[in-house]
Amino acid sequence: MKKNLDDIFNFQATSDDCVKCGKCIPVCTIHQVNADEVTSPRGFIDLLGQYQAGNLELDKNAKNIFESCFLCTNCVDVCPNSLPTDMVIEEIRADIAEKFGMPLFKKAAFYLLEHRKVMDWVMKFGFMFKTCAFATDEKKGGLLARFRMPMVKKGRLIPSMMKTSFLNSYPENIPAPKQEEKPLRVAIFIGCLANYNYGGIGESLVEILKELNIDIFIPKEQLCCGAPAYFTGAVDSVERMTKANIEYFESFMDECDAMLIPEATCSAMVKHDWQVFFKNHDMPEWETRAKNVAEKIHMATAWLDDNTELQALLKTKGSFDTSVTYHDPCHAKKVQNIYKQPRNLLAPNYPMIEMSDSDRCCGFGGVTMQTEKFHFAEAAGKPKAAMIKETKAHYVSAECSACRVQLSEALNNAEVETIFKNPLELIAEALKK
Ligand code: SF4
Ligand code: SF4
Repeated sequence: MKKNLDDIFNFQATSDDCVKCGKCIPVCTIHQVNADEVTSPRGFIDLLGQYQAGNLELDKNAKNIFESCFLCTNCVDVCPNSLPTDMVIEEIRADIAEKFGMPLFKKAAFYLLEHRKVMDWVMKFGFMFKTCAFATDEKKGGLLARFRMPMVKKGRLIPSMMKTSFLNSYPENIPAPKQEEKPLRVAIFIGCLANYNYGGIGESLVEILKELNIDIFIPKEQLCCGAPAYFTGAVDSVERMTKANIEYFESFMDECDAMLIPEATCSAMVKHDWQVFFKNHDMPEWETRAKNVAEKIHMATAWLDDNTELQALLKTKGSFDTSVTYHDPCHAKKVQNIYKQPRNLLAPNYPMIEMSDSDRCCGFGGVTMQTEKFHFAEAAGKPKAAMIKETKAHYVSAECSACRVQLSEALNNAEVETIFKNPLELIAEALKK
């Protein structure tokens, strides 16, 4: 694919625009766990400029450096010139993938994300045989590795697999209970972790929409949003998944009032990064199509709070004693400015306790960080687990299953009792009161 580097993705121009003020350094997730100038936004930008000027070879050391960024966007948030460090790193990762190739396990993972039917079988198989290698921990909602495996250390908590995915558990159309009230019609884009691992999220969203008397449409042919591939530099995979999804969304979007995504990363990818990807790869027609479909797509709590009577309905329900601390996913607060709405919907029924730094990145960081560079993810998770422990909250909540994977493991590692729940799961529970 031809790249259009004349825009903000001109590494050299980005590097020239960096005034070296250093404001990004204290907030940088990788710099917090690896205090070295080269693994800081200022360092990354400088190296990228040198790479484009031909002064830096893309060798194993450079690969190692550029794969250390968590893509958390903390730096973009504080930079006086709003330099898109995360986006230029996403671009260089495509060059890295081209030069070094993709490890087999990543190729297999992206193949499965593109081929839903094969993935369904692999997950079923995983469900049947999971107890051979893992112990189930119902309370923590995950699996504990019984022994050391490639890239999974003994005792690590990973998400469990469901027997039947969310998309295979429900009919395509679920009519609103009271049709005489001319209900809204809302589609659900579920996200892969909620589809295969965290079944309570989709189930809760369906229950909430039924309570609000909304017609539900579950588009069965939806694919992964492409985020795992995008953050890893697998551009061909991203192109195939995004184009297939856009064509599919266009076929039904006119008949829907909105499409809800109960996941911050998928929502940021679909609403924001798809357009960036097409712009950056010089596909203006697809950029426009991505922009058009994005208009009706929303993160679930944001749409529910802004467009329905859910908050008022929750206020008529009783309160729980169990307290909640809300973690702001980077892809919700920093990319989409969504942080009030989930709190608005939780506060009527749960005592809320703010942690000392709710938008400090949890340290998930993507596929590479969770596998080859897990020591960085582990180090970034520790302060977050300590912060959650300090609140003494019963639940930590975030509308993001990537944060759930990372925080559940960080809490497990630090032996903190707090349990992770998506806000939709807590809201659905409150509606039953
Ligand atoms: S995106 Fe996050 S980890 Fe990467 S350079 Fe910026 S602050 Fe650091
Ligand atoms: S905050 Fe922006 S301008 Fe300042 S050093 Fe960081 S990247 Fe450069």
